[in-house]
Amino acid sequence: MNQKNPYLQMDQQMVGDIYTSQEVMDNLTVLCDDFGSRFAGTPDERRAADFICETLNRYGLKDARLESYSYAGWSRGTATLEVVEPIQRSLHCISLPYCPADDTTAELISVGYGSPAEYEGLGDAMKGRIVMAGSASPPDLGRWVHRKEKYERSVLGGASAFIFISESPGVGPETGSLQNDQPAPIPGISICKEDGEFLTRLMERKGTVKLRLNTTDVNEPRTSWNVVADLPGKENSEEMVILGCHYDGHDISQGAVDPASGMVLVIEAARVLALYAGEQLKRTVRFVGFGTEEIGLTGAFRYADAHEGELDNLRFMYNLDAAGGASRKGVVLHRWPDLVPFFQDTAKELAANVPVGQQLHPYSDHFPFVLKGVPTGHMGDAEAPPSGRGYGHTAYDTLDKVELENLRKGSAVAARLALRIANTDNFPAQRRSAEAVQTLLDTDPGLEGYRVSLELRKGHQTS
Ligand SMILES: [Zn+2]
Repeated sequence: MNQKNPYLQMDQQMVGDIYTSQEVMDNLTVLCDDFGSRFAGTPDERRAADFICETLNRYGLKDARLESYSYAGWSRGTATLEVVEPIQRSLHCISLPYCPADDTTAELISVGYGSPAEYEGLGDAMKGRIVMAGSASPPDLGRWVHRKEKYERSVLGGASAFIFISESPGVGPETGSLQNDQPAPIPGISICKEDGEFLTRLMERKGTVKLRLNTTDVNEPRTSWNVVADLPGKENSEEMVILGCHYDGHDISQGAVDPASGMVLVIEAARVLALYAGEQLKRTVRFVGFGTEEIGLTGAFRYADAHEGELDNLRFMYNLDAAGGASRKGVVLHRWPDLVPFFQDTAKELAANVPVGQQLHPYSDHFPFVLKGVPTGHMGDAEAPPSGRGYGHTAYDTLDKVELENLRKGSAVAARLALRIANTDNFPAQRRSAEAVQTLLDTDPGLEGYRVSLELRKGHQTS
């Protein structure tokens, strides 16, 4: 096979630079070690946004800027969990973002993995109880069941509080928000796998187990920022492709893999595209660092609203959330069959391991764009079997876990794909109509959790 690569020289320059530079790891080190978790509402969140903005400016991007927006903020308070019957015991726990301040004493009930069938099986038994669910997805269901779906099914079932149990041993409690950009209706906390096993044994051995849960979290409005910067297209600066990733992490760790390993791929792609492809870009490549993803994809929702007028000209939004981890650096399209041949041909041209597939979930920054019909995908591997988060969303998502080699692979793929999406004269996808979006929302198996959250919202409006 002797496929001609029209971008060979730029490819060689960009990839050669990426593979002979430490810059991408240096940027990751600053984000993680200097700014910590960059959690929404902390001074380090703002310092991280400024750092990303200054770095993009230094790389020669045009008009790198912060775009501010208001959102429903949340600050962690102390949380305590006590077994009060049939024995007394204190267990370590943490509130999950958007948990309200509360004091609840109630009987504990387990919903196992938290599959739809397990929730249905509990029925009225959930009413007034503290419901606990494991973080693992049900092994026989064939899809990921997100924490938020389990929490919302608990609320719909009338639970008084929710306990989320880590599936991985030795990593402590797993965090993650209960709601998107709004205070949660009932308290939700997380405990480690080992304490979850203890509570399960206690129920099996003694029958009724009663718990007291006290939370002191604060819900109050705040401001955050998206970072936006452009390499303008020389033929058409209105049409564009976006490389994006959130920069905020969860407060209990550095968020090194999720999300910072993906954020530095966006920054590195910007660096090499500016150096070697900037003069030959036909259309604009825009780089976006989204704020407050972990508590509601809020930065991406605000971006999609504020830039509504540009969305017809947005060819593709490529979400690099956490993409510098160990996963293959492919393209997971969000139900865009017409784009498969384009990306498969491109993958051949790159002579790199870039699997192309289809899959959709509503739990990262691409989703606000999906709702608006924009062609989207994320960097990852659609063929990988579903797995848990491991140390993700725990205190152990730290810089030492990230490998320079993976950052290089991801940066190279991101830069080379962005160049092709911007420069191809016939990009084979167009914005979906509102009707087509609605059909997707109503029927896609990966959006079951989104439909549950709509049910919860409806219930709250009428009651
Ligand atoms: Zn993320």
